[in-house]
Amino acid sequence: RKFVYDFTEGNKDLKDLLGGKGANLAEMTNLGLPVPPGFTITTDACRHYLAEGDVPDGLAAEIAVHLEALETRMGKRLGDAADPLLVSVRSGAKFSMPGMMETVLNIGLNDASVLGLAKQSGNERFAWDSYRRLIQMFGKTVLDIEGELFEAALDELKGSRQDTDLDAGDLQRLVETYKGIVREQKGREFPSDPREQMELAIRAVFDSWNAPRAVLYRRQERIPAELGTAVNVVAMVFGNIGMDSGTGVAFTRDPGSGHQGVYGDYLQNAQGEDVVAGIRNTVPLQELERIDPASYRELLDIMSTLENHYRDLCDIEFTIERGKLWMLQTRVGKRTAGAAFCIATQLVDEGLIDMDEAVSRVSGHQLAQLMFPRFSATAGNTRLTTGMNASPGAAVGKAVFTSAKAVELAGRGEPVILVRRETNPDDLAGMIAAQGVLTSRGGKTSHAAVVARGMGKTCVCGAEELVVDTRAGRCTAPGGVVVSEGDVISIDGSTGAVYLGEVPVVASPVMEYFEGGPVEDELVVAVDRIMRHADAVRRLAVRANADTPEDAARARAFGAQGIGLCRTEHMFLGDRRKLVEDLILASTGEERQAALDALEPLQKADFAGIFAAMDGLPVTIRLIDPPLHEFLPDYTELAVKVALAGDAADEKDRRLLDAVKRLHEQNPMLGLRGVRLGLVIPGLFAMQVRAIADAAKESADPRAEIMIPLVGAVQELESVREEALRILADKGVDAMVGTMIEVPRAALTAGQIAEAAEFFSFGTNDLTQMTWAFSRDDVESAFFGKYLDLGIFGVSPFESIDRDGVGRLMRIAVEEGRRTRPDLKIGICGEHGGDPASVHFCHEIGLDYVSCSPFRVAVARLEAGRAAL
Ligand code: ADP
Ligand code: MG
Ligand code: MG
Repeated sequence: RKFVYDFTEGNKDLKDLLGGKGANLAEMTNLGLPVPPGFTITTDACRHYLAEGDVPDGLAAEIAVHLEALETRMGKRLGDAADPLLVSVRSGAKFSMPGMMETVLNIGLNDASVLGLAKQSGNERFAWDSYRRLIQMFGKTVLDIEGELFEAALDELKGSRQDTDLDAGDLQRLVETYKGIVREQKGREFPSDPREQMELAIRAVFDSWNAPRAVLYRRQERIPAELGTAVNVVAMVFGNIGMDSGTGVAFTRDPGSGHQGVYGDYLQNAQGEDVVAGIRNTVPLQELERIDPASYRELLDIMSTLENHYRDLCDIEFTIERGKLWMLQTRVGKRTAGAAFCIATQLVDEGLIDMDEAVSRVSGHQLAQLMFPRFSATAGNTRLTTGMNASPGAAVGKAVFTSAKAVELAGRGEPVILVRRETNPDDLAGMIAAQGVLTSRGGKTSHAAVVARGMGKTCVCGAEELVVDTRAGRCTAPGGVVVSEGDVISIDGSTGAVYLGEVPVVASPVMEYFEGGPVEDELVVAVDRIMRHADAVRRLAVRANADTPEDAARARAFGAQGIGLCRTEHMFLGDRRKLVEDLILASTGEERQAALDALEPLQKADFAGIFAAMDGLPVTIRLIDPPLHEFLPDYTELAVKVALAGDAADEKDRRLLDAVKRLHEQNPMLGLRGVRLGLVIPGLFAMQVRAIADAAKESADPRAEIMIPLVGAVQELESVREEALRILADKGVDAMVGTMIEVPRAALTAGQIAEAAEFFSFGTNDLTQMTWAFSRDDVESAFFGKYLDLGIFGVSPFESIDRDGVGRLMRIAVEEGRRTRPDLKIGICGEHGGDPASVHFCHEIGLDYVSCSPFRVAVARLEAGRAAL
């Protein structure tokens, strides 16, 4: 196996092996762009290292060969005392994990080569600056020394000066201080052997894959834990060599709006992370036109080359060394949900992609974000300040000033806004916990902005008027308004505005569009075009789960093509509880029938309302499912009431208490419910079917589908179905009769069950519960966190269909059901019906439709379209 690839050997499609950074560095190299030479150690080597605890055999030799080639090409040797080659050792996984893993710059410097570098460059200050950066980065990431220690030493030396004001002597002293820190913390000298530096840095990058913050980020972003990272070894170019040098980041379009233009930040006389870390204030990229017009023009040229080549928005990291531009990274850039839709349709109009591709470039997750409410424009709240609109949305919560506090309060269910001067990767847990993030420093490319956009979290950054005092737990806005920990603030990620107190929210334009609003603003036009195309290409129909005429009407507005699940339980609640009690307490057939007769007209009216709202579209009605004791009073309460009343206790209450006792179950989810109720309580299902039939008779164009829940054997279904068909025939009503597939036995005997069912609908909530033997109401809080930590699953099986287990049962049921009845209609009505990954799975196994909550209908339509491409 080959573990090392030169940049000339790779390309952008090798992300699995070379990571995103390595693959794109190779791609840029092969496009003839100015990339410093280097090579990539594969993710394969990393996986081996993580599994075996050591690098694979032969890796060292391969690295030696590539390093030698690099040295020959550069005409310098790594760490040579007279004229050293320096390299960076950079992490880079398949999926970008901004700032989550490690990079070490300036490898190859030591007490001897720093002098060689000073001499060769004619710039002593630069050489010592590079050396102190090496010890600092190496100390922190490779030797695991608290980064604060180095920063504190630097701050103390700087006093009120900027880092650029430090001279060679200052920096040389700083190097000594840093070496002292290493000695003190680690009981060893900073390693001066360049090869050893490189080797240790490579291992540290591998190890950083499992750093806690990287693990947390992957879980949040659903990036598989087993991918590993590649390592890029790149010849150093220097942005910290004077004012004619610098480093910057740029986007080919605005990642917030999608508009074309020049978006980025530049910092003169700086290296690496200085731009994003907010160490000094960056200048907007436009300024580069004045500072270095030739490099500016070349950069714009390269940006357009990259856009045309990747046919998408790219982000870029670059460095200018004494007027020479170098490209250090590019990738298809993260963007806000709104920008994703706008950019996709812009690229269609520019002829770079077609509509199919545009649909595949947006996601249901992004669409869902666009449906969130916004702040109302007419809020009377005090506006504290305005920062940059880094990631859209409207977030309200208590201000907190540390990640730990954010996690603590959010854990108690309190919404919080994390307020920081700037964020760094250690703030990740707090960012996840918070409703939104507010920073006083850093631009749209700062850590806070990039990470928040990736997570779809509201973010306002660079609110420079805000003075954040983390230690005191407060911040001060212009005019002296103080926000202390716990004070409620509201931040608007679409405008950058920050308000005191809670600002009321209104529906978003995209939500209004789905509810029949105008197609005017740019974003709504883009969403409309993409939705139309998704609808045109998708094979899966999309229905909604709706129990009331109001929900049904809303679902229809969102584009639902019917109801996949209408639950009838709520029709037994409220005032009707008393009728249900009568039914349960009935001691004779007459009493029971009287109770049923009283319920029937009520149910009929409910169904008529739903048929009217869904006129002409299918409505799947599930006969009553939950155990009957759910409709009875609480046992303890009733027992106390009867005991207190003593001899005077109401006769009815006594009987009720007996019934509650009799119906009590240890495992109600596995007890007397669903079809079992229908078989045990005579007349119950028949009453429901009559109500459906009578409602249908009075409706314009009803398409009823009667669904029997919790069937595990065809025999259970047969008698219920016969009775239903008899009633329908009597009434002269045409309706389908089918069943849910939610018991594993039903899936495994689907071939038999299909004999008695005209349709199947997967109830994946119960099916998951019973396949895993997980009680959904109990396990999520009890131990799912642990299971996620252990990697037993990457996402809760209640959130996204477990393809291997539950999915396998579904496949069997589809295949065997259709073998019996080729025209068997099959859908899904569990909550998974609105989950993007599950929608794709349902498409894959050939279902006819998915059904989800009304608000997820649009998401499911889009994902069904994407699945079909
Ligand atoms: P991240 O994945 O966190 O973005 P990178 O590996 O891209 O980390 O490194 C961060 C920064 O370090 C880069 O943006 C670049 O400015 C600087 N850098 C990395 N390698 C080199 C190099 N060979 N020469 C100059 N600067 C470099
Ligand atoms: Mg980078
Ligand atoms: Mg169920």
